[in-house]
Amino acid sequence: MMRSRYDAVIIGGGHNGLVAAAYLARAGRRVLLLERLDHTGGLAVSARAFPGVDARLSRYSYLVSLLPSKIVKDLGLGVELRRRRYASYTPAGETGLLVDNDDAARTAASFARVTGGTADLDAWRRFYAMTSEVAAAVAPTLLEPLADRTAMRDLVGREAWRELFERPIGEVVDERFADDTVRGVVLTDALIGTFADPCGDDLLANRCFLYHVIGDGTGDWNVPVGGMGAVSGGLADIARAAGAEIVTGAEAVAVDPAGEVVFRDATGEHTVTGERVLASVPPAVLARLLGTEEPAPEGAQLKVNMVLSRLPRLRDPDVDPVAAFSGTFHINEGRDQLARAYAEAARGRIPALPPAEVYCHSLTDPSILGPDLRAAGAQTMTLFGLHMPARLFREDPAASRERALRATLASMDAVLAEPIEECLLRAPDGSLCLEAKTPVDLEDEAGLPGGHIFHRDLSWPFGEPGTWGVETGHERILLCGAGARRGGGVSGIPGHNAAMAVLGVS
Ligand SMILES: Cc1cc2nc3c(=O)[nH]c(=O)nc-3n(C[C@H](O)[C@H](O)[C@H](O)COP(=O)(O)OP(=O)(O)OC[C@H]3O[C@@H](n4cnc5c(N)ncnc54)[C@H](O)[C@@H]3O)c2cc1C
Repeated sequence: MMRSRYDAVIIGGGHNGLVAAAYLARAGRRVLLLERLDHTGGLAVSARAFPGVDARLSRYSYLVSLLPSKIVKDLGLGVELRRRRYASYTPAGETGLLVDNDDAARTAASFARVTGGTADLDAWRRFYAMTSEVAAAVAPTLLEPLADRTAMRDLVGREAWRELFERPIGEVVDERFADDTVRGVVLTDALIGTFADPCGDDLLANRCFLYHVIGDGTGDWNVPVGGMGAVSGGLADIARAAGAEIVTGAEAVAVDPAGEVVFRDATGEHTVTGERVLASVPPAVLARLLGTEEPAPEGAQLKVNMVLSRLPRLRDPDVDPVAAFSGTFHINEGRDQLARAYAEAARGRIPALPPAEVYCHSLTDPSILGPDLRAAGAQTMTLFGLHMPARLFREDPAASRERALRATLASMDAVLAEPIEECLLRAPDGSLCLEAKTPVDLEDEAGLPGGHIFHRDLSWPFGEPGTWGVETGHERILLCGAGARRGGGVSGIPGHNAAMAVLGVS
């Protein structure tokens, strides 16, 4: 039986809403979480996407870096985040750049083959030594009240501050690295989920880059064993066990600054009041619920989910496809290719050679495949395409999705030894195991304004000292989702920080 008053009403059951619910319920607060869909997890879910095919794909997000060990430990989240042996492989003509986390000599030989020398490898080591230091310094602060700009600068040190926080990352990369392939590998971290010019003075790409290299103090991107659904499923269990009431099929339709929330379910409209209201929905959705407005964000990615009957062959005879597809496999993401694709998309055109990256989760964690698929050697493949802004898909969503998908598959074929379509598994009904999601699709099915994967553009991890970066203009209303400062990605950080703000931690 639902009460009418709670200490906290949480709107949205994405992983961040669940983290907030878990912390607050454990602290003895009465918590109600309302989720619009019939399941929790938001963008961190697993799904059987193809009829009759027993593969639990991480449908949206797929790798974990930003989730702090502290949250995992505090809440007792029992999900294994498995390290990938190979960080990345980037085809370059008939060879390619392999970054092997366990074999420095092999990585060095690969750099020598692709770049023709040692300068870029040396630069790579120096650059990532610098980002590692920044990660170790900044990551712990993400779970504390905000530091101001000066304190963050002192913490980071002069060189890293200049290179990562002050100068456009594109300029820094051009200056430090000579090879176009190497430059591109570095720059993709600045562009994932962010439609930006890395040489732009807005430093939007810098902010994106920063969050891609500081996760949990290492910046490693790990495989959630069991898929993303295991992460949010585990969090939901923890929140429920602590006493949080989690109601699915319940869509908030209005919020009052005094803490009144109107929601709709199958039986009609209801009103509940929270001493605090925590919104894990995007800021633009919260603004609509409050009857105000917020500029619409714009996402810029094409997500493609696939199940393969086998791995495709590579043009590079020296690298095993198992190694190449275990890590991030970069497709036409050279520095100049990225710049060209950005310019085309900014002019309103689907890039002719879309930059994208793929990885096969099942190579590191086969548990997401049913026994028959595993025995048959099937693999899951997830593709994240860059520079596909929502504006390209507004006029004719279905036709433009098809054009973007065809161009992306052709881009992939250009770097493989055989067409990817020949490796796609067919479902029992004969259809290909292939689905594509544009930003407009995400807006429609996941309620993401503009299809922006971080709810809005990422912000710097510093600000008004003493605040948590979750505050809104209204004392009782807090953000607890990706749109908060230091939110974005599968991190639980804004969920934790909103809970700490409610609990009065300082
Ligand atoms: C294609 C894609 C790939 C990504 N890849 C990665 C990745 O590999 N690694 C990574 O770290 N991040 C990745 N991200 C980003 C990451 O998934 C998100 O930033 C993060 O999951 C957001 O979590 P959240 O809990 O803040 O919000 P969400 O997961 O968006 O949850 C918000 C919840 O609110 C619900 N809701 C909306 N409106 C209402 C309402 N009116 N009433 C009630 N409920 C409502 C929604 O249904 C949803 O469940 C990816 C995102 C996408 C889309």
